[in-house]
Amino acid sequence: MNAGVVTASYIVASILFILSLGGLSHQETARRGNLYGIVGMAIAIVATITSDQVSGIALIMVLMILGGIAGFFVAAKVEMTAMPQLVAMLHSFVGLAAVLIGFASYVDPSINLSGTEETIHEVEIYLGVLIGAVTFTGSVIAFGKLQAVIKSAPLLLPGRHWLNLAGAVVCVWMGAEFLDAESVGGGLVPLTIMTIIALAFGVHMVMAIGGADMPVVISMLNSYSGWAAAATGFMLSNDLLIVTGALVGSSGAILSYIMCRAMNRHFVSVILGGFGTESGAVATAAEAGEVTAASADETAEMLRDAKEVVIVPGYGMAVAHAQHAISEMTHKLRSAGVNVRFGIHPVAGRMPGHMNVLLAEAKIPYDVVLEMDEINDDFPNTDVALVVGANDIVNPSAQEDPNSPIAGMPVLEVWKAGTAVVLKRSMATGYAGVDNPLFYRENTRMLFGDARDSIESVVKHLG
Ligand code: NDP
Repeated sequence: MNAGVVTASYIVASILFILSLGGLSHQETARRGNLYGIVGMAIAIVATITSDQVSGIALIMVLMILGGIAGFFVAAKVEMTAMPQLVAMLHSFVGLAAVLIGFASYVDPSINLSGTEETIHEVEIYLGVLIGAVTFTGSVIAFGKLQAVIKSAPLLLPGRHWLNLAGAVVCVWMGAEFLDAESVGGGLVPLTIMTIIALAFGVHMVMAIGGADMPVVISMLNSYSGWAAAATGFMLSNDLLIVTGALVGSSGAILSYIMCRAMNRHFVSVILGGFGTESGAVATAAEAGEVTAASADETAEMLRDAKEVVIVPGYGMAVAHAQHAISEMTHKLRSAGVNVRFGIHPVAGRMPGHMNVLLAEAKIPYDVVLEMDEINDDFPNTDVALVVGANDIVNPSAQEDPNSPIAGMPVLEVWKAGTAVVLKRSMATGYAGVDNPLFYRENTRMLFGDARDSIESVVKHLG
């Protein structure tokens, strides 16, 4: 393919990626957005591998087929609940690719630059490897925390901010050494030292983040993976990779900002790690008291007698695959004249938009699915708030206990409803590991059991 056609294909692909991002921002247009992204990526791949810059197409095809098969099976098999881990793992690949391409591009004998051009290329390599290394190990640790193979509680090393600062100073120093190096061999030493520090920083940064701050880290790593891709684009002089990386990087940064605002966190505090877990901020014991259990029969009766019902889904709904049963229950109640709506917390579940995707899959109409800010003032006028497998996002200690690790995080105020019915299997804590005083409130009823079984049983009792 000649250079003109490649450039034209890249422009078309860039436009499709922008349309894709636009489409993905609304549930109604998300499918179309996805399709734009797929077509854009197909055009990008074909244009790149058939361009004059690329040789060894046979090997590339073999690797693409192998990668494609692996990707297909992983994506086909993955449970909706494991999707965040998959995304974290894919981010780590982008980071690793940036590191490898950085080293390869530095030692590539066919790249012969001099003067300013050489300096610019080396800066691109240094930054690309730095961002890539942080993204790689940060994403691997995020994967471990989401998969629960690493404890979600923050690891707070003594003097950790000083450690980070020392690492940053050494990286700047190594950067100067790298640019000054006379030979490739001489430059590899500072580049390798910086890479090791950046790999360690990625581990340290994500290990120090705990409580309910993980969503910000996930979106932040998403952003880093975009910048790592953009840096790779600069190293390879590939315009499309620069544009695509910048799109992912900036949309991830915007998402991180939105997440921070939704959780009342300062971005810098989250990045520095362990926010809300400074001295004295420990998970508090739950209020002493008894919990009042309810049966499916009693819950069905409360719902039947209610005029206003708000359902608050959380991670447990995803685990239990309860969305279809909830859809059936919603349909029954709405047919009986009960106004049923949904309240969605921005960090419910384990990835942004997790609940919206599941509710959409179960064909729950979009107009009854409301954001936290849209519904929070309505709880005092709500007869029954049905909390389905949610915990942290309905924890009143976020507002009432300044020592709570989730203090200051906005939550859905379900306790202000006439009755809050909480569906979960036990008294276990949620992701942040914080006890929830909601369960002990006078107007709270606990419906213990798997959320899907409980809802199906409620549906039966609704008749
Ligand atoms: P939580 O993790 O706080 O609580 C989920 C609850 O669901 C648990 O307490 C569990 O209790 C219950 N549960 C699990 N399985 C079932 C089941 N089969 N049936 C019924 N209940 C079940 O989830 P929330 O959605 O309330 O909050 C999300 C948390 O995840 C926040 O802390 C958020 O910061 C964090 N997070 C969010 C991300 C995002 O992007 N949305 C990303 C990473 C982390 P039990 O075991 O007793 O059943």
